[in-house]
Amino acid sequence: MFTINQTHKELPFGTLAPNSIIVLFSGKSALMTDNGVRLPTASELAGTLATETVMMTAGFIDGAECWGARMPKDFTAPQGFELVESRLAFVHPNPDIANAISRCREFITWRNGHRLCGACGAITEFAASDLAIVCPSCGMMYYPQIAPAVITMITRNNGREILLAHNKRFTTPSFSLIAGFVESGESLEQAVAREIMEETGLTVKNIRYLSSQPWPFPNSLMLGFMAEYESGEATPLDGELSEMGWYSKENLPQLPSPGSIARKIINEYFQL
Ligand SMILES: [Zn+2]
Repeated sequence: MFTINQTHKELPFGTLAPNSIIVLFSGKSALMTDNGVRLPTASELAGTLATETVMMTAGFIDGAECWGARMPKDFTAPQGFELVESRLAFVHPNPDIANAISRCREFITWRNGHRLCGACGAITEFAASDLAIVCPSCGMMYYPQIAPAVITMITRNNGREILLAHNKRFTTPSFSLIAGFVESGESLEQAVAREIMEETGLTVKNIRYLSSQPWPFPNSLMLGFMAEYESGEATPLDGELSEMGWYSKENLPQLPSPGSIARKIINEYFQL
């Protein structure tokens, strides 16, 4: 089981316990072993990773502490290890690995973005008592920022059809649910209704929450919803979506990759 640590630390790799679990990032990938299914331990990387490499704590998997670091872009995997696209970790059968990778990834991005105080420019450090970064000069506190995003499955025709759309940024010809970031000052339900109106021109009713998933690319929390179609003609409106349509269980298009919350919601709904 993955648990979040209650203190923040940065330590050189050479001082870590041999059973520490190491999450090394390079670009969008994480270093894995055993053909890409397991995160390496400190003892397995001893001799290949420089002892002075600064590692940051992230949490524990079954009592073994997880430490993360971002390597240079030209980092190559040592023999016996491979760089696996971080998003693929979410399809891993062991959710602890997805949790450790998400937590490390967000944590490193947050720490690296707050090396200096934004208010006075002094070098920051970890707060002693809070999960925060503090400026020792002016006292400004920096907490990890999480960007909530809503993703909604819209149903119609007594629930027999769902709305799916293709986004121009997708690298595959897949169709997914309607998603967007929550704006400051609005509720999650308002964000659902607004995003759907902006992207599809539809109004919806009976909005209800389903489940969530951290999405550390770089710091989102995806909140999954369902809503029922109320009125309008589904039309791609905002320039990001190129195509959309209503699909039943029998004629589904290519779906988002397994492990994504979109796929989970669709699979559970249609019992795929
Ligand atoms: Zn300051």
